[in-house]
Amino acid sequence: MGQAVLILIKPDGLKKSLTGNILTRLSETKLEIVAAKMVRVTQALAEEHYKHLKDKPFFNEIIQYLQGELHDRKKVMALIYWGPDAIKKCRELAGATNPEEAESTSIRGSYGRITTSGVYENVIHVSSNDSEAEREIKLWFAPDDVIVDLYPTKIIQKDIKFKDWA
Ligand code: GDP
Repeated sequence: MGQAVLILIKPDGLKKSLTGNILTRLSETKLEIVAAKMVRVTQALAEEHYKHLKDKPFFNEIIQYLQGELHDRKKVMALIYWGPDAIKKCRELAGATNPEEAESTSIRGSYGRITTSGVYENVIHVSSNDSEAEREIKLWFAPDDVIVDLYPTKIIQKDIKFKDWA
């Protein structure tokens, strides 16, 4: 049975030119990439993504972090990996949330750090369970961005203005 997981390469990962290394590590899982894009993260998107952490003392810091305010890299790479046990496989490779506690060969153990001001710069985000993966994937991607049918969709007809190639 296929399972989907949202992966974000966070601004510190992009600033440190780690995209290739991270994708190489994730390819060890033999999972399939079914969506990928660069995203300029708005405050609203960051706050919605981390809404379950709203009461934490580090909430404002992680909103700034995800938006790239701490790294002068206002972008994130968002991907969906899909396949058997996708969440467990990717979380194992990612390592613990605290990069100093993460196994040293994991992605966070290899490339993460805690800054002197206490920010956990842990390079990637990986959804924590099935319902979070579904919530996050629907937040970051539209159905047409994804090359497999992950969740039920509906057709909406709207007369809207949108930007197209000139
Ligand atoms: P994750 O699923 O491993 O990313 O962990 P969480 O969803 O619990 O936390 C989201 C993000 O908040 C983490 O990736 C860290 O960047 C940050 N974070 C979590 N716990 C702490 C903490 O105790 N202190 C600080 N400074 N940041 C934290």
